[in-house]
Amino acid sequence: MARYRGAVCRFCRREGEKLFFKGVRCTTDKCSIERRKYAPGQHGQRRGKLSDYAIQLREKQKVKRMYGLLEKQFRKYFHMAEKKKGVTGELLLQFLELRLDNVVYRLGLASNRNLARQLISHCHVKVNGKKVNIPSYGLAVGNVVEIAEKSRQIVGISDSLARVEHGGVPAWLELDAAAFKGKVLHAPGRDDIPLTAKEQLIVELYSK
Ligand code: SF4
Repeated sequence: MARYRGAVCRFCRREGEKLFFKGVRCTTDKCSIERRKYAPGQHGQRRGKLSDYAIQLREKQKVKRMYGLLEKQFRKYFHMAEKKKGVTGELLLQFLELRLDNVVYRLGLASNRNLARQLISHCHVKVNGKKVNIPSYGLAVGNVVEIAEKSRQIVGISDSLARVEHGGVPAWLELDAAAFKGKVLHAPGRDDIPLTAKEQLIVELYSK
């Protein structure tokens, strides 16, 4: 699946908030947004008042980029959420959260979603005991995600796990750091998703 491979810090600067694409670096003073608190580009420092459309668009771009998706993939999740019974915005976030790459990141098996995707596509991750190399793989309640035994020595996994173990995982996940594995306890509700996004704005944008 195609994905964006350019500079990512500019996305944080564009949205004016940390989107955490770079793991530990995001929490240090090397973070670009700490050093340049304005949007990227020639006119970045001249940002005027945004229209309603622009506000909705920015919210959509923020969430889409946070999960590392391109427009077509993101819209597909929106249509899936639209077809399901419930609050579309919340269901959209639920689909995104249940992606395998996101769960690997949330469990701390990788320090950011890009690394999570890499671990998965290089066959270092198992779901219910079987290797899965599809980052977009949709997890269900009860699924167990783990790092394959031979891959547990990969640099960075233990450090990342230690950080997440210290801070805790979201309530809908269970982590067994010693076994490099975690479990989906229940589908995440809106309160379980640590995201500042206003998903209703995305729904309004796509419903025009
Ligand atoms: Fe965003 Fe992290 Fe880059 Fe800071 S270091 S701008 S939070 S990706």
